[in-house]
Amino acid sequence: MRPEYTTCYVRFHEERCTGCAECLKVCPTRAIRIRNRTSIRLVDLCIGCGACIRACAAGAISAATRPPQQIGNGHVAIALVSPVLYAQFPTAMPKDVLLGLRHMGFRHTIDMSIFLEMFQFAAAEFIRRNRETGEAPWPLISPVCPAVVRLIAFQFPALLAHVLPVLRPVALMAREVKERIIPSYEAQGRQVALYYLNPCPTMEQERFGPDGTPLRHPEISIGINDLYPDLNQRIDTILTEVPPFSETHFEYETCATANAALVAMSGGEIASMRIEKSMAVHGLRDTVAYLQKIEMGLFQEVEYFEFRTCREGCLGGVLSAVDKYMARSNVQRMLHLHGLGRRVPGNTILRLYDKGRFKPDKSPLTLTRFFGDRKPALSLEQMVRIEKILDTVAGWGCGACGAPDCPTFAEDVVRGEAELGDCQWLHPSRPCMKATPDEPGRSSPESGL
Ligand code: SF4
Ligand code: SF4
Repeated sequence: MRPEYTTCYVRFHEERCTGCAECLKVCPTRAIRIRNRTSIRLVDLCIGCGACIRACAAGAISAATRPPQQIGNGHVAIALVSPVLYAQFPTAMPKDVLLGLRHMGFRHTIDMSIFLEMFQFAAAEFIRRNRETGEAPWPLISPVCPAVVRLIAFQFPALLAHVLPVLRPVALMAREVKERIIPSYEAQGRQVALYYLNPCPTMEQERFGPDGTPLRHPEISIGINDLYPDLNQRIDTILTEVPPFSETHFEYETCATANAALVAMSGGEIASMRIEKSMAVHGLRDTVAYLQKIEMGLFQEVEYFEFRTCREGCLGGVLSAVDKYMARSNVQRMLHLHGLGRRVPGNTILRLYDKGRFKPDKSPLTLTRFFGDRKPALSLEQMVRIEKILDTVAGWGCGACGAPDCPTFAEDVVRGEAELGDCQWLHPSRPCMKATPDEPGRSSPESGL
């Protein structure tokens, strides 16, 4: 059996790969290569969008998440709950879902509603002030979808200045847990682990130190689809046997409104922000297309863009358990039953805003350095060589070389990561042959390649 190996966001199972190259075609950052037909390789440009997982019918790619095992065994398990989880269960209320998680071994279950509420208030406040100060260029772009921010850093770095400088709801939630819940367990000498229950791939390596040892409080990602079977059974039991509700300590361990569930849908983030000139775009292809338009200077009259790389928003995340349209109708039912409501007074959020509590710790510009280190800029000489190679290959973008398209293949050759001979269409017997006749399919001093 060939090895299984993990990159930052996705895991390849080479023994299942058929070499069909479907994953190459959908990757927005051209991060995947295939060698020797089924040896998959990832160049360090993955943004964790999950498109390759969706595209691979053979199941050879999965998210780099952990199976939900031994939760709470020897440690205090704290769940940071994505609102997408509520939308997976048509007959259960959010409180039943959170209770089901506690039955699975989580000591605390943190709901995102209050943090979303604070984020939306802070975002609207920044936009209101920006109308007077012009601190950031219009249109501002939501920081909520991390894959979008990474995509901007990789492909549209000039747009990083448009990313709203307000801490994402999940970061607000994690900070609250680290400041208010973990210290009390530390004082008792107990180990704590944070579990992110997610509908999309999350960077697992960040949870470990450089030597691979777990951080003091390990941060673990679990896909909603992995959690679903066990949680579904426990919720069924809860709904039929009605056990007493577990004790909770903090207000944000319960979910009283449908605010969070609404944000899981495309358009849900801007729906309760009351920004007149705002737009919601979802799906990877449309996200790229609209970012290109913004880069060209269009949409300057729009104040705020909500982008999600998944169709229908986070409900369409690749690690969701139920169909995205079914999940959407579950959210609409929750909205009908719970309605929307605020739990934190505006004055309190405004005070925190003025104290700088919503400022991100890191600028998204650090991501540009991340991608820049992995893909150093090409010299003029290298660019000339790429042009020469492109004159030589057929230019069909067939993927037979293992790269997603001919320009990427040519760049790989110049960077020393592929050989010109990997292109099948250089051979002189091919009718489309444009290769130099001196040494078909091989680079040579005469051909200048
Ligand atoms: S989509 Fe990619 S990983 Fe999946 S079988 Fe095809 S080539 Fe292999
Ligand atoms: S997760 Fe997205 S960026 Fe990463 S390899 Fe797959 S398609 Fe490419």
